[in-house]
Amino acid sequence: MTAGALTTIRTDWSSEEVQALFAQPFNDLLFQAQTVHRANFDPNSVQVSTLLSIKTGACPEDCKYCPQSNRYDTGLEAEKLMEVEKVLAEARAAKASGTTRFCMGAAWRSPKKKDMPYVTAMVKGVKEMGLETCMTLGMLTGEQATELAEAGLDYYNHNLDTSPEFYGDIITTRTYQDRLGTLGNVRDAGIKVCSGGIVGMGESIKDRAGLLLQLANLPVQPESVPINMLVKVEGTPMAEVEDLDPFDFIRTIAVARIMMPKSHVRLSAGRESMNEEMHALAYFAGANSIFYGEKLLTTPNPKANKDLALFDRLGIKPEERDVEHDDDAQSQALLGAVEQATNDRFFYDATA
Ligand code: SF4
Repeated sequence: MTAGALTTIRTDWSSEEVQALFAQPFNDLLFQAQTVHRANFDPNSVQVSTLLSIKTGACPEDCKYCPQSNRYDTGLEAEKLMEVEKVLAEARAAKASGTTRFCMGAAWRSPKKKDMPYVTAMVKGVKEMGLETCMTLGMLTGEQATELAEAGLDYYNHNLDTSPEFYGDIITTRTYQDRLGTLGNVRDAGIKVCSGGIVGMGESIKDRAGLLLQLANLPVQPESVPINMLVKVEGTPMAEVEDLDPFDFIRTIAVARIMMPKSHVRLSAGRESMNEEMHALAYFAGANSIFYGEKLLTTPNPKANKDLALFDRLGIKPEERDVEHDDDAQSQALLGAVEQATNDRFFYDATA
């Protein structure tokens, strides 16, 4: 690869090329991914986001992996939309612990007209704190995307989940085209796009390649690409699916990094079942963003301090945000959090 090729964004990937990336020997793939990563990012910096579920459960969609769907009995207690003030209090706490982006997720097919004043108030309030804002609310019309953009929304998350070919095995209540339509509306409104998928749902390597192909070949590549490992939840149709080989997960991260050289590749759901070595390997493969905090929507997430303790051992620094902010307060929060994590290291449960 020439130096120029390492930083060039291509949106014309072919399926054969992507499958060939996956088929490389593991060390060759990781070396290539790390080389691309270094040409585009500080390799020792990881962006940290906090995710809060602002409306949990009772979702009418039928995504087979999701405990929030009202079609599956998972014992999840449905909650109404959180009050704006409560959301802002959570955002304040997240900021104090050093997070730079605050993501708010609601289990909706799409937001209703009556919901919009509340969600826009949340965006405005979080934005005023100097945090980057992100929301995931289901499908959006062009009008809704514009409303959110005007409120100051920086990112919108809407995942493609898997390849177009495998998609019908996972979700039947909305089409792949619906998802692409929402991504287009978000992009047209001037909001940055966060879109990725889930691996470990019984898909083939060709499907993993197909997902990354769709994401990389969008007219503009997503700024954030969450790669989730399926969390098997009792009561969902995916509860018994066969475990994914952890190296296949790392390969997916590495191929995403090579194909989308300037996107933040995010290590998302499924981190609870990954040990420290796997986290370290994922960072080496090019993951440079994580969700931090107690909960990743409704699935457990390693405690924030575990992440910071591992950052400290690996010499990784949380990435500073690029929105206007009070530098001193920000660095103090991060330093305080890292120091606290270092002190807590002796209590780190490496088996979790
Ligand atoms: S993934 Fe989202 S849309 Fe699908 S069931 Fe869960 S909350 Fe609803």
